[in-house]
Amino acid sequence: MKTIYFDNNATTKAAEEVLEEMRPLFCELYGNPSSMHTFGGQISRKIRQAREQVANLLGCEPSEIIFTSCGTESNNTAVKGTLAAAPDKRKVITTRVEHPAVLSVCRDLENHGYTVMELGVDKEGRLDIAELEEQIDDDTALVTIMYANNETGVVFPIDKITELVAGRGVVFHTDAVQAIGKIPLNLSKSSIDLLSLSGHKLHAPKGVGALYVRKGTRLSPFMLGGHQEAGRRAGTENVPGIVGLGKACELAAKNINEENEKVKYLRDKLENAILQKCPQCRLNGDKENRLPNTTNISFEYIEGEAILLMLDKFGICASSGSACTSGSLEPSHVLRAMGVPFTAAHGSIRFSLSRYNTEKEVDYTVEKMPEIVNKLRKLSPFVTE
Ligand code: PLP
Repeated sequence: MKTIYFDNNATTKAAEEVLEEMRPLFCELYGNPSSMHTFGGQISRKIRQAREQVANLLGCEPSEIIFTSCGTESNNTAVKGTLAAAPDKRKVITTRVEHPAVLSVCRDLENHGYTVMELGVDKEGRLDIAELEEQIDDDTALVTIMYANNETGVVFPIDKITELVAGRGVVFHTDAVQAIGKIPLNLSKSSIDLLSLSGHKLHAPKGVGALYVRKGTRLSPFMLGGHQEAGRRAGTENVPGIVGLGKACELAAKNINEENEKVKYLRDKLENAILQKCPQCRLNGDKENRLPNTTNISFEYIEGEAILLMLDKFGICASSGSACTSGSLEPSHVLRAMGVPFTAAHGSIRFSLSRYNTEKEVDYTVEKMPEIVNKLRKLSPFVTE
């Protein structure tokens, strides 16, 4: 049975072009980029090229990119590194709908004497910007707000947010792990100070990420023990991963508009057909300001996990709630923050597409979904008729 993969916000397939670029770095060009010899020197050139490719996608200087091991490390570095560099300030502002790679880090800060303010969202998952303005004060070191939500795909108005934060002596970080490679972004026209991204969300391999650090932003290193990344992130570089990330960014920069159109067409076809054919279901999140690849749909009175298991029987991969938190039966913190009723939050499914999906896959899934939903509804103790 062929796998139909609609779980691209959890992770993506590495692009063939990315793999080709990485291949020589395992057994031929395997030197240590820090070595003095020519063999090692050619590896540091590969890293330099990858840094340029990432910077080109983001519209920043290559010197503003630090390679990390993943989005989680980038987020930890951004939050903890900012606070370590501003020891007199004790307040952090974030949102209730962040990925745990930001939210858990912030909540842990409360155990260390920090005040953490979590901004709420409305029922469409949109942020209350007025509340943000009110909350910024002289004690605020950091505002960290995600670019796009991993569960609903809702995109926050980062330009408006940075306008509010700029000039207040506060560092602004955005977790753009789900946005990079899916929507265009130009840091040369933005006042974002720190931005996290992750390779495996944009068709590069797992185990590599990056943190953009605007020139002049004060940030203490999180990893100590070596001079790599200009002393900003110690540890021998994951050269194949970095080279793969560079190539993935080059591909994204070249194809982003064309791919967005295709992915959005497929996502909309899938979403509209499911909403039309399956009774008692609803879309979660702002329909307009959304990633082009994501749809999050609640099926009332049935368990998301049961839907996933039945989809799995047909070789269809999707996700209920955040992939990183599935395994727990708690309804998603994002849907709860949006006030989605318990009976709907439990029955939520996220389909997240990529450039590798086809119309045939969408049609097959659309054919199976009503069958699955009707079967589960008949078994539901909450449905009486
Ligand atoms: N931030 C967001 C918004 C994510 O969706 C994820 C992963 O799902 C992460 C951070 C963590 O990234 P990584 O898996 O590279 O650590």
